[in-house]
Amino acid sequence: MTTTRFAPSPTGYIHVGNLRTALMNYLIARKAGGTFILRIDDTDPERSKEEYVDAIKQDLEWLGLHWDRIERQSDRLDRYAEAADKLREMGRFYEAFETPTELDLKRKKQLNMGKPPVYDRAALNLSDAEKEALRAERGNGVWRFKLDHERIEWNDGILGDISIDASSVSDPVLIRGDGQVLYTIASVVDDTEMGVTDVVRGSDHVTNTATQIQIIEALGGTCPRFAHHSLLTGPQGEALSKRLGTLALRDLREQGVQPMALLSLMARLGSSDPVELRSDMAELIEGFDIGRFGAAPTKFDVQDLFPLTAKHLQSLPLADVADAVAEAGVPADLAEPFWAMARENITTLADLKGWWELCRDGAEPLIADEDRDFIAEAIALLPEGPFDGETWGKWTSAVKEATGRKGKGLFMPLRKALTGMERGPEMAALLPLLQVIRAKA
Ligand code: GLU
Repeated sequence: MTTTRFAPSPTGYIHVGNLRTALMNYLIARKAGGTFILRIDDTDPERSKEEYVDAIKQDLEWLGLHWDRIERQSDRLDRYAEAADKLREMGRFYEAFETPTELDLKRKKQLNMGKPPVYDRAALNLSDAEKEALRAERGNGVWRFKLDHERIEWNDGILGDISIDASSVSDPVLIRGDGQVLYTIASVVDDTEMGVTDVVRGSDHVTNTATQIQIIEALGGTCPRFAHHSLLTGPQGEALSKRLGTLALRDLREQGVQPMALLSLMARLGSSDPVELRSDMAELIEGFDIGRFGAAPTKFDVQDLFPLTAKHLQSLPLADVADAVAEAGVPADLAEPFWAMARENITTLADLKGWWELCRDGAEPLIADEDRDFIAEAIALLPEGPFDGETWGKWTSAVKEATGRKGKGLFMPLRKALTGMERGPEMAALLPLLQVIRAKA
């Protein structure tokens, strides 16, 4: 059965880049009728925070990316220790004692000689007595996985055929000197034991994947299908990594971006399918195909989310936005006509407040000197209430008859006088909501 996972580290809020990963894994699982696991990669006790775990869950729930199971790596440390023992017994695991400064120096020397900065495996030559001495002096060493120096190959769901020479990669550290298990082995153990069949993640993980394939094989597991999506860049192709902090999902939510707008964009951006607003998750799942995504960096412009949000809001019935309409201050008996008027004229729900204030308080009238008499005459002709959708038509016909004005010369001064703006909602829909005018009528 298809099983995927989204595996964030709870060391910060998740952003649009994480969402791309989460969504792809989610859609693969749902399309196949499989399982989607939320896996919290919290093996780093210092950087992992409970508030981020909660925030990740909230963000996914807001988007409707429901998980079937949640797993936490901090609950599974004994499993990782077992796997580490197994690698040790197999002779694939060795302790190394270089300090970060020493490693840095080695790397610099290699680079100076035009060689790739790969760990030289000096620790493999240490005798037991030397290790004992180093341990006494420096404390426990790190544990590195001994890669087989051969080509590591896989068919990537996005990148196609990949072949990496293992000798160009350093033996990965899987356990730190202080005993902390690192993601590389924890992830492998989890993917194997949880039956993960498909792993989609960012292309910054390609080298990890190569080493993880060897670890999976050493532990006797089956490799999942891997796909590495391109990284997001800004609209000009600039690196987004530094700005991702400002593109946290909660910030976008704050700014009024609607889930369907965000999902519609992120589920297709970087693929050969057009980005269009989709009406629901089912539609996103139905049309999703990982094979349509390209390897080139994907441009992301946060501004694209706003027209999609506006379009989505336009499609909603009052029932879906009733809370926001009430929050804007609109009385319940006006909610229906208010929403009908406002929905075509907002980008986010935050704009409702301004339209309601216009309805409630009126606007500073915008009246040209030459229109003063005309406006006074028009106001005098306002029909008796109650106002409805027909009132505007009846009123402007009467004004036309009395003043001889027509077309733009008739409508524009009225619009500007009533709303203080040259453009805006359908006047027929707005007029019955203008409380000041109703009071006058
Ligand atoms: N915790 C890892 C990350 O956030 C997960 C990577 C993976 O999907 O394996 O980068």
